[in-house]
Amino acid sequence: MKVKLFLEKMYRQGRIPQAILFYGKEGVGKREMAFELAKAMLCLKKQYPACDNCHSCKLIKDFF
Ligand SMILES: [Zn+2]
Repeated sequence: MKVKLFLEKMYRQGRIPQAILFYGKEGVGKREMAFELAKAMLCLKKQYPACDNCHSCKLIKDFF
C-alpha cells in the first residue's frame, strides 16, 4: 500500500504539508487514510499509526 507508506514516511520525517488532497475512485479508502493521518497528528504519544489509547485518540474515535 504505497499511499500508507508515503504518509507514514512524511509523518516520521515531520514533513506534512499544509494540505493533502485525497483523490481517487470511490471505496478505495481515501477517507480512512485521511482519518488515520489526522489521528496520528493529534495523538498525544506522537506515533504513526496512532496509539488509539490516549485521550486525543479516544475523542477522535468517538467523533467519527
Ligand atoms: Zn493516541
